[in-house]
Amino acid sequence: MKNPLRSFVLAGAACLLLTASALAGQTSTLWQTFRKPEDFAKLKKGDKIVYVCNECKTVSEVTVASPEEAMEHCKEGATVTCPSCKMKVRVAFRGPPKNQSVERQVTYVNEKGEECMFIAKAAPQK
Ligand SMILES: [Zn+2]
Repeated sequence: MKNPLRSFVLAGAACLLLTASALAGQTSTLWQTFRKPEDFAKLKKGDKIVYVCNECKTVSEVTVASPEEAMEHCKEGATVTCPSCKMKVRVAFRGPPKNQSVERQVTYVNEKGEECMFIAKAAPQK
């Protein structure tokens, strides 16, 4: 005899899995985190990027004024100001500076050297 409770639980689990994969798919297609200078080099005037600030827990949308301005976000030692809490974060590279073969990542750190912000862009809609 088939146990009706068991099939109910199985159906519920399958449903949850579908929901979870749909959510995961959504975040990966809608947002692209910028980690490499090449990512910033692709930005054009009028593109919209977001500053995700861990300090004040806000997401601020910023419009790129020029490709040069976009490149300021990945110049080592440059500063980016959170539009919401006015905190200044410093652009730093993670990875060994002498070994160019290792991919280096752009990070945004506070005065204590802790990573406190990241920049992302809404991926183009299909
Ligand atoms: Zn902030």
